[in-house]
Amino acid sequence: MVYTHTRTHAPTHPRTHAPTHPRTHAHARARAHTYTHTYIHTYIQREWTQSTKGRTTQEFFPEVAERLKMKINLTQNFTTMVTGHGKTKSYLHRFKITEAPTCPHGKRDQTTDQLLFECNLLNKERDILKLSVIKDKRLANQQT
Ligand SMILES: [Zn+2]
Repeated sequence: MVYTHTRTHAPTHPRTHAPTHPRTHAHARARAHTYTHTYIHTYIQREWTQSTKGRTTQEFFPEVAERLKMKINLTQNFTTMVTGHGKTKSYLHRFKITEAPTCPHGKRDQTTDQLLFECNLLNKERDILKLSVIKDKRLANQQT
């Protein structure tokens, strides 16, 4: 009888009759934690999507949560590529550190996009990268 009495006093959803409030302090804490976590994630993602800063990096990593799952060795070259700021000829030329902005292996200005898509010195690395992307895509398709 005592059990029934306490149950009738616990707030429940009018239709599903599921408890609408946490029954224990630990439960309340866990729920508050999940809520706060989700709220912060949503807030950061919105800031990242709407900001005018770091747009090159956003092209590489549009989803904050996905980026956080990745284990990345943050080298100076990696950062240059995903930010567009670093020791490329065109970047250094802008600050009058190098005489010419052009890539020594081509006719165009050396930028991060030029290095990724064009520079002849990186043909082999580009082919390896392309193959690994294709392989990842095939694996992803098999899993879905
Ligand atoms: Zn080059």
